[in-house]
Amino acid sequence: MQNKTGIFKDKQDFVEQYRDRCKTQLGKEFEDLNEHERFFCLAKLIADKARQTGLKTHVKGEKRVYYFSLEFLLGPLLDNYLLNYGVRDLVDEALKDMGDDLETLCRQEADPGLGNGGLGRLAACFLDSMAHEGIAGNGNGMRYQYGLFRQEIVGGRQVERTDDWLSHGYPWESRKNESAVIVQFGGQVVRHEDNGYFWFTQEGGEFVKAVPYDVPIVGYGAKKVNELRLWKAEPSKDNFDLDAFNAGDYTKAFAFRANVQAISTILYPNDAGEHGRLLRLKQEYLFVSAGLQSILRTYEREYGADRWSELAEHVSIHTNDTHPAMCGPELMRILVDEKRVDFDEAFRIARATCSYTNHTVMPEALEKWPISTFRNLLPRLYMIIEEIDRRYRDGFPRTGSNWSDALKNTAILWDGQVRMANLSVIFSHSVNGVSALHTKIIEDSVLHDFYKLTPEKFNNKTNGVSHRRFLGNANRALSGLITQAIGDKWYDDAMELEKLAAFEGDDGFLEDFAKAKQTEKERLARYVKEVTGEVIDTSTVFDTQVKRFHAYKRQLLNVFKVLDIYNRMINEGFEPQPTTFVFSGKAAQSYTFAKEVIRLINSVADVINNDPRVSDRIKVVFIPNFAVSNAQIIYPATEVSEQISTAGTEASGTSNMKFMMNGAITLGTYDGSNVEICDLVGEENIKIFGLRANEVEAIKEGGRYFAWNEYNADRARLGRVVDMLVDGSLAHLSGNFESVHDELMVNNDQYLVLKDFHGYVQAWEELMSGYDNRRLWNRMALHNTAKAGYFSSDRTIRSYAEDIWHIGK
Ligand SMILES: *Cc1c(COP(=O)(O)O)cnc(C)c1O
Repeated sequence: MQNKTGIFKDKQDFVEQYRDRCKTQLGKEFEDLNEHERFFCLAKLIADKARQTGLKTHVKGEKRVYYFSLEFLLGPLLDNYLLNYGVRDLVDEALKDMGDDLETLCRQEADPGLGNGGLGRLAACFLDSMAHEGIAGNGNGMRYQYGLFRQEIVGGRQVERTDDWLSHGYPWESRKNESAVIVQFGGQVVRHEDNGYFWFTQEGGEFVKAVPYDVPIVGYGAKKVNELRLWKAEPSKDNFDLDAFNAGDYTKAFAFRANVQAISTILYPNDAGEHGRLLRLKQEYLFVSAGLQSILRTYEREYGADRWSELAEHVSIHTNDTHPAMCGPELMRILVDEKRVDFDEAFRIARATCSYTNHTVMPEALEKWPISTFRNLLPRLYMIIEEIDRRYRDGFPRTGSNWSDALKNTAILWDGQVRMANLSVIFSHSVNGVSALHTKIIEDSVLHDFYKLTPEKFNNKTNGVSHRRFLGNANRALSGLITQAIGDKWYDDAMELEKLAAFEGDDGFLEDFAKAKQTEKERLARYVKEVTGEVIDTSTVFDTQVKRFHAYKRQLLNVFKVLDIYNRMINEGFEPQPTTFVFSGKAAQSYTFAKEVIRLINSVADVINNDPRVSDRIKVVFIPNFAVSNAQIIYPATEVSEQISTAGTEASGTSNMKFMMNGAITLGTYDGSNVEICDLVGEENIKIFGLRANEVEAIKEGGRYFAWNEYNADRARLGRVVDMLVDGSLAHLSGNFESVHDELMVNNDQYLVLKDFHGYVQAWEELMSGYDNRRLWNRMALHNTAKAGYFSSDRTIRSYAEDIWHIGK
C-alpha cells in the first residue's frame, strides 16, 4: 500500500511539513537538530496526524471494546506507523534527500517496557489488529514511570538497571487533565436508603487522582485510529496534606505525595514474588476503577444516563488475565451506588459486558489476595464480592457426588482468600484459552468445575501476532521479496502469504529467499558485535531461544544440549553442523533459579567460545536486554526456533509464530501453539520431540519419575553434563552451579529436563543433518512463511469480535 492514506501528498509536502514541525516544536532548523531531536519532531508530526485521523474515523453509535491489561509491550512505534500510513518508503526517500536516514532516526525511539513478555506483547498486537480490522477497540492500562528493568550482564550475571524510558519525553502520548478521575482506597462504608433503595458510599480513606495519557493506535490503512489510555497516579487536591504543607512539614507532605505516586511507578515482574503485595492490588484497582469511570462517562454522554440496561450492547470490557479481575465488581459498584441500578440487574449487566482470557495453567501463577488486605483497601468492593459469592453458594446445584468439591473449587472466597480467577469467571460471559491445547487443559483440569457448570462460556482463541510489525517492519529483506513475488496485499490480509507456496519449487526464488535470510543474519551479527563485542560467523546456523527465563521454558535443556555437543566434540571427535546458539531474555529480579540459568549460559559461552578446539564450529552468545526492539532484529535472522517448554506448560507462545513467519524451522515440544504450527506446516516441516502433555501428566500423577534414574541410565553423556554443573568445569567465570544441580537432583527435576534430554539432542541432530541440503531447507523455511498467515493477530481479533464481543461485520 503506497501512500493511499494521503497524509503527505508527496515527498516535497512531507519535507515542508517536517521542517515546519522542527521549527514549531523546538524552535530550530532541521539542520541544527541532533538525532534524537530529529526523531522526536518526526514522531510528533506523525502523532498529530494520528490524532486527526482518530477524530475522522470515530463513528457515533458503534460498539466499543475496551481491552484492559496491566501490560502493553508496544515496542517502537514510528516505523510501524509510517508503514501503517503507507508512507514508509516516501519518508525513507525524502529523508535520504535531506541527508538523513530513517533507520537511524527510528533507533532513537525509546522502547517502552510496559510489560514482561508474551502477555503484554499480545495486548499490543491486539491493539494493532483491532485498529486494522476497523474495530473501535481501545486499550486501558498503566503508565509506569519505569518500565521493566534494563538488563546488563556483568561477569555473566544479570544486573538490573532502572528503565527511565520517559527521560527524553514520549512523543506519542498526550496528557488529558480534563479526563482525570478520583479513585478511592480504604475508609468506611456508609449505607444510605431512599424509599427502599439501598446504596453505599465510602467515607474517608485515601483519594488518588488518576490522570490519563493517551497514545494513538494507528491501524494499517488508517481505517481506524484508536487510543491506548494509560493511567498515572497523582495526589488529589482533596487529600494532599495541606495542613502539613502549610505548617512547613514538608517531609510529611512529600512522603504522602511519594506514596501516592508509587502506585504508577513500577511494573511488577510476572514470575516471582509479587503476590500479596499491597501496591500491586492498588495498581490493579486504580487502572480498573479509572478506566471504568472514564468508559461510563463516555457512555453516558453518548447514550444518556438511563440506558444502563443496554450497556453490553454498546460496550465490551475484555480482561487480559486476572489482573483486571475487579472490572466486574467495580462496574457493579458504580452502577449500584452512583447510577442507582438494582443489584441483580447490575450483576447481569456486568456479566454481559465482561469477558476474560486465561493465560496460565501454573497453579502458582493464579492470583489470590488475603481477604483482610482486600477488605481494608477496598471495603465496598469486598462487600459486593461477598454478596455475589454468597448468592453463588446459595444457588449452587447440590447434585452429583462431588458437588461440595466443585463448590469449594469455584467459590470466589475460600480459605481466607479472594481468588481472582474464580472472580473473573463468575463475572464474565466468556472465558477463553489462548491455544487449542491450553483451552483443553483449562476445560479438563484448571477450570474443570466451571466448565461442567457452564460449558457454553468456554472457547478457544489461538493467539496471533502482528505480521506487519514482526515481518513487515522487522524483516525488510524478506518483506521486500514477498511483495515482489505476490504483491503487497499480504499486509492487509496475511492469508495472502499462502500464495508463496507456489514458489516452493522455484529454485531462483528459493535462492532469493536464502539471500534475504543471509542479509538478516548479517544484520544480527552487526548488532551482536555492537552490544557484546562478540563476532559471530554468519555461515553457521543461527539457532535461537529468546524469551523470558523460566524453569518451564527450559532454557536449561537447551544449555544441556550445547554442553553435550561440546563434550562429544572434545571426546569423540563429533562434528556437528556449525552453529551459533543465540540466547536472550530477562529473569525476574527475585527468581534465583532463572538468574542462575542466565549465569550458566554465560559461563558455557565463556568456556566454549574460548576453546580453540571447538570455537570454529560452535559458539554461544547471550544478547543482553531482550525487548521488542532487538527482538525485531533477532527473529528475522533465525533459522532454528527453539520452543522447548515441558508439554502442558506453555499456554500458547507467540515467538514461535514470529519465528515461523520469518522462515525459521521450529524445534519444539508438542505444547501450546506448536501443536497448531505442526498441523499447519505438516510434520515434515517442523521438528517435534519429547513427552506429550498427557504423558507428562501421567508421569507426575504416578509419582514414577526419579531424576536419578535418568542420570544413572546415561552416566556418559547426561551424567557428565549434570556433573559439570558442580565439578568446576564451568566455574571459571563466576563459580559452580550448585542450586541448578539441586533443582534437578534434589528437587527431582520438576520440568523433566533430564527425561526429554535424549529426544531433544537427537531431534536437533536430525534436523541439522538436513541443513546441508540447502534447497530442501529453504523450501521448508519458505513453507513455514507461506503457512504463517493463520497466526496473524488479525485472525485472532476477528474471532474475538465475532464470538466474544459480538461485533457484526
Ligand atoms: C513475542 C515476545 C515475547 C513472547 O515470547 P515467547 O517465546 O512466546 O514467550 C516476549 N518478549 C518479547 C519482547 C516478544 O516480542
